[in-house]
Amino acid sequence: MFECRNLVKRFGETVALDGTSFSIPEGRLTVLIGPSGCGKSTTLRILNRLIEPDGGEVLYRGRPLSSYDPVELRRSMGYVIQHIGLFPHWTVERNICTVPRLLGWPPERQRARALELLELVGLPPDEYARKMPHQLSGGEAQRVGVARALAADPPVILMDEPFGAADPLTRSRLQEEFLAIQRRLRKTVVFVTHDMGEAIRLGDRIILMREGRVVREAATEDLVRSG
Ligand code: ADP
Ligand code: ADP
Repeated sequence: MFECRNLVKRFGETVALDGTSFSIPEGRLTVLIGPSGCGKSTTLRILNRLIEPDGGEVLYRGRPLSSYDPVELRRSMGYVIQHIGLFPHWTVERNICTVPRLLGWPPERQRARALELLELVGLPPDEYARKMPHQLSGGEAQRVGVARALAADPPVILMDEPFGAADPLTRSRLQEEFLAIQRRLRKTVVFVTHDMGEAIRLGDRIILMREGRVVREAATEDLVRSG
């Protein structure tokens, strides 16, 4: 799905990516893992063209990423970050339908989709559709964030420490739930974390990064077997 070759990204003096190469297969959950500051988020933001690399190349579905319209590209990739940033003055339902609304779906279809997704992420629609973001717990807000990312059924989901702010119990519940969703939907997921337990639990494949480079890329079972 993605083929990244020799990505370089600098922020002033800081070299965030220093010749990063890896590939992301379709329909799998690939984890990017490494210590804080090694370039994981920068990599993710390059994949949806929130930022552009200074060097190297990304192919997406066999074509240069730069040949895609950035706005359309971002609508085709769900994005879930740590502090999910729901719009505070919109109901849960309206938040979930952000992209469908931009795409001009009829209101009834938006509504049906929101209810279906609330069900999928384990929030009873009758109870949650009309709530405002401030009425949600942290874990509930992250579930709504996942629902929002899935709303227009994008082929790619990018997740940047999505459960990082949750307490351990909530976090492991969110992991379980997301794994169950992913088993059904088989999206191409790129999941950033610095937690090896989370990486092993969720990832089909794991890419280890350090100081802006990929140091290892392997199927999770091979990585676990070889230690
Ligand atoms: P990670 O996600 O692995 O924690 P990041 O990709 O966020 O790492 O950051 C890699 C390096 O680039 C860090 O040193 C970070 O401070 C720096 N960096 C990231 N974004 C910016 C930015 N917008 N401006 C300046 N430096 C940045
Ligand atoms: P993460 O931990 O997920 O990588 P950060 O907290 O590092 O996220 O970054 C959040 C935002 O701050 C991003 O937009 C990133 O580009 C920016 N940023 C990160 N590091 C720096 C930095 N050293 N200087 C300026 N902006 C930064």
